[in-house]
Amino acid sequence: MTRNMEYKYNAIVLNKIDTGETDRVYVVYTREAGRILARAIGVKKPNAKLAGNLESITQCEIFLAKGKGRGNITGVIPMENFLAIKENIFALEKVFGVMKIFNRLMTQEEKDEKTFQLLLEYLLMMNDEAGKAEKDILKFDIYTLGFIFKLLQNLGYKQEAKKCAVCAGKLISGENYFSAERGGIICSNCAKQETKKIRINDEGVKFIRIVLENKMENLGKIKLEKKNLNNLNNLKIIVREAVRWITN
Ligand SMILES: [Zn+2]
Repeated sequence: MTRNMEYKYNAIVLNKIDTGETDRVYVVYTREAGRILARAIGVKKPNAKLAGNLESITQCEIFLAKGKGRGNITGVIPMENFLAIKENIFALEKVFGVMKIFNRLMTQEEKDEKTFQLLLEYLLMMNDEAGKAEKDILKFDIYTLGFIFKLLQNLGYKQEAKKCAVCAGKLISGENYFSAERGGIICSNCAKQETKKIRINDEGVKFIRIVLENKMENLGKIKLEKKNLNNLNNLKIIVREAVRWITN
């Protein structure tokens, strides 16, 4: 007789999938093994204790009994439930968007501590801002955009912002474009050859540079004024294009 081994994971719950009348499969991102699927038997029964600790956007320790294939969750210790995010519609909307992107990009069971740490830091920063009496909701955008650019960088899809991604020439202020296909900012000359390109101004280029050169925790220092909102919207389109190009 083979006995199931029990494993402990430091996990962030990304998503859940209903699989049966009383069971669920949870999609979790773990420090130890990257993205894994874990089955929770009987979790939908009214008195099930596991469910509350396995809400999406929760950090917890998960114990899995694993024989062959997918493991069964035998226990959960809650660590951080990011309640402030869940109680703020603006923060929650951003985090849900990020979770969608994260799910699309992270499809493999593969250990990546740097990405785990990045996701955790992002959620902690969002939670911290959402919990403040005087929230700066622009920070939600800054952290979210910053996180996605840094995530792409971690995964080997760094978006070039220091020189032209095609000719490696110097970027001249006021004349630059973004190309998802070319993987970053391109000069006006190279842009002539590209059919799919997005205009980006100097502030936008600067934002990407700052994000890629700094740790997640330092993004709190980026100051943006309301007049830069257009920039943020432009960067949102750019980041969406980059993700779409990579995941298609
Ligand atoms: Zn060029």
